[in-house]
Amino acid sequence: MQNPAIGCLTRTPETLPTRGGQGFTSVQSLLEADDGFDIILVDLEHDAAADAVFLLRCDPRYRLSLILAGKGATNTPALSDGPVPDDPHSITSSWQRLHERLAAFNQGNVPERFDDHVLAWLWSRPEGTLRPLRHPHHPQFYYYPLLSAFADDEPVNEMVWLQLMTEQGWLESRDLVDRIRLCTHCGSARLNYVDVCPDCHALEISREPSLHCFTCGHVAPQEHFLKQGLMLCPNCLTRLRHIGSDYDRPLENYRCRACQSFFVDAEVEARCLDCDTHHTPDELRVREIRNYRLSEQGRLRCRRGFSGDAQVESHFGRLNLISPAAFTNLLSWQIQQSRRYGADATGSVLLLRFGNLGETLGQARGTALLESLIDRIRETIRETDRCTRIQDELLWLLLPHTGRAGMDRLRERLAELNRLFHEQDHVTIDLRSSGLTLPDELLPQEDGELLMARLGGEVS
Ligand SMILES: [Zn+2]
Ligand SMILES: [Zn+2]
Ligand SMILES: [Zn+2]
Repeated sequence: MQNPAIGCLTRTPETLPTRGGQGFTSVQSLLEADDGFDIILVDLEHDAAADAVFLLRCDPRYRLSLILAGKGATNTPALSDGPVPDDPHSITSSWQRLHERLAAFNQGNVPERFDDHVLAWLWSRPEGTLRPLRHPHHPQFYYYPLLSAFADDEPVNEMVWLQLMTEQGWLESRDLVDRIRLCTHCGSARLNYVDVCPDCHALEISREPSLHCFTCGHVAPQEHFLKQGLMLCPNCLTRLRHIGSDYDRPLENYRCRACQSFFVDAEVEARCLDCDTHHTPDELRVREIRNYRLSEQGRLRCRRGFSGDAQVESHFGRLNLISPAAFTNLLSWQIQQSRRYGADATGSVLLLRFGNLGETLGQARGTALLESLIDRIRETIRETDRCTRIQDELLWLLLPHTGRAGMDRLRERLAELNRLFHEQDHVTIDLRSSGLTLPDELLPQEDGELLMARLGGEVS
């Protein structure tokens, strides 16, 4: 492999050229240089490094390049490939690995669209993560620097895009970073929470000690009861002598200056500072700010190429797929439940192996066959059932509250459908299945992982 071209951004020209690369003192001069670089080392401090890395990622030539930057720039974990290591040899080997990963992305197709760039970036980094960054000027306080840099001129609604990509199974959400509340009208998170009158919603309220006359039930501010040094009810003119027998202090301690009403607690209203819409707090949209990574399924698609398996994916996407890790956890939990509660917590695990998906799908009838199979699975499974897909051809189903009979029925239907197609069109999906029912067929000490390994062995 050729030696990579290295560009180095540094504040101190004396150290130029650095590490065998070409040196620049500003990101502009580097971007204007005619030569493209494979590796860029950013040797700047803090904000300067952060700005430089962002500008580099905005440039189509450097979106996926190896960019090493350090020294505590706030956005660098979200955009760069880590700090500059001391050992120049490790830089070259990191670049080689990155280069090989990128060459394998989507079967060597060069990423063109926004989605492709983000996926390629995540795919080519071993720990590739989309990380949000907090910024007080941003209407939602958080943004994803990598998405902003890749967005170019086309505006991308980052939150909507992330949600869509997660629903389509490309990405999976990870650690929760924060939870914010948004205006339902304009989506802004810049909200002011104010206490208002529960009757007329006026802002002008105040705490005012008040009294309650037992004779007539009148409630009014304390000063209305004071007449020439005596306590008189302003309504019935009864003289009030003893607290507890003539009068007391009501819980209503607030007064609205607009409608004069008394109340115990003010109401909280969330007012949008951007569009001035008023909401009760429970009306606000709640949004979780999370890190995102490629899902197992997304990784699979990146490796196999988008065009080839788009069809297969769209079929399986209709089943509610969860990540293999989540599936294993759920299964372990189900196993614990059935150990504890016996037949009351029965459930079944079914593994389907589609042996020849690639070839079969080439034919139109093969596609139709897969469609019907998946429809049949969908009809049979319930909201509470969960599926996951591993290595293309393995589809796992966890069917809580389904006993042996229910699971066998599903297996029979699928086999029957497959037979029917074979008779009509001589197309068959090489469908093998294996399943068991909890807790009866559970081995001692078996957890989700061990059980999956056992069933997996039966269909391979
Ligand atoms: Zn009021
Ligand atoms: Zn009174
Ligand atoms: Zn608003």
